[in-house]
Amino acid sequence: MLVVMQSDATPEQVARVIDSIRQIDLTPHSLPGPTRTAIAITGNTGAVDARVLEVLPGVKECIRVTKPYKLASREMHRDDTVVKLPQAEVGPKTFTVIAGPCSVENEAMVFRSAEFLLSRGVKLMRAGAFKPRTSPYAFQGMGVEGLAILKRVREKTGIGIVTELMDTEYAAAVEEAADVIQIGTRNMQNFSLLKRVGRCRRPVLLKRGMSATLEEWLMAAEYVMAGGNYQVMLCERGVRTFADHSRNTLDLSVIPPAKALSHLPVFVDPSHGTGKRAYVPAMALAGLAAGADGLLIETHPDPERALSDGAQSLDFPGTEKLLDQLRKLAAVLGRTM
Ligand code: PEP
Ligand code: MN
Repeated sequence: MLVVMQSDATPEQVARVIDSIRQIDLTPHSLPGPTRTAIAITGNTGAVDARVLEVLPGVKECIRVTKPYKLASREMHRDDTVVKLPQAEVGPKTFTVIAGPCSVENEAMVFRSAEFLLSRGVKLMRAGAFKPRTSPYAFQGMGVEGLAILKRVREKTGIGIVTELMDTEYAAAVEEAADVIQIGTRNMQNFSLLKRVGRCRRPVLLKRGMSATLEEWLMAAEYVMAGGNYQVMLCERGVRTFADHSRNTLDLSVIPPAKALSHLPVFVDPSHGTGKRAYVPAMALAGLAAGADGLLIETHPDPERALSDGAQSLDFPGTEKLLDQLRKLAAVLGRTM
């Protein structure tokens, strides 16, 4: 249920509605908007009796939300969510690029990557300290040492850090090092991890599970939001199909329905989506054209020697060329980059 307040409702009237929702043992989520405040209600297993709320002063109407994902749904929140980071604003008017190496490999390469990206106008860098690898014998990431490198590089350069959290145990440590906490495809339905990041104060980049439906993906976002963290960004990174010409099948067709059903920003990751460097630029541009609000891309100073995902990483000249093309297309589509 969504309680919509009148545009001239006073803060006291809003507080009284919030209080009344708590009194019937449900959870209120205040959603202030440009023209009015709305209060979302979660925690109910059946329908909420609107009559007790409709009669309160300042209430305009109560709207039933039909989707199982409530806070993530556009029924609950008509306007696109804008996620405000210290370095960038993610939303419908911008196209936000997050680039960088798959893994933190050492301080020099992370620093070099940050300097390169900043010099080309990219203000957010991705790099994993904890790596979910298919083989236990493959490089597992530098862990807490990698987080320390990310913190130092952020301090020195000012670049924003996007890094993955795999385990609730390291939530506080990752939150401290990251401007955005990434949840990987393999953990999209790790519900204890989702609940934990629901209590974090950093925005979350939630990758789509490699075999998740759109509804399952939005329900995963709902877990984070139900915990009180409303700053969720979705990221399409390819799904499993019968196709073997690429590592995954980048499902660009999910972007328009994701944006229709949800108000959350949507990113596209053509690096994991294709697995092959040669196909990345075309799919990045296609993602922007399909309506994505941002791009997550792997860029490495020396892809041939990368410790993970080198085959899908662009080198610096390749990244630069793609950024130029994206800027031109973004301008045509009325987005700034
Ligand atoms: C990554 O971004 O490096 C990564 C491991 O992504 P995914 O979870 O999409 O495989
Ligand atoms: Mn990777």
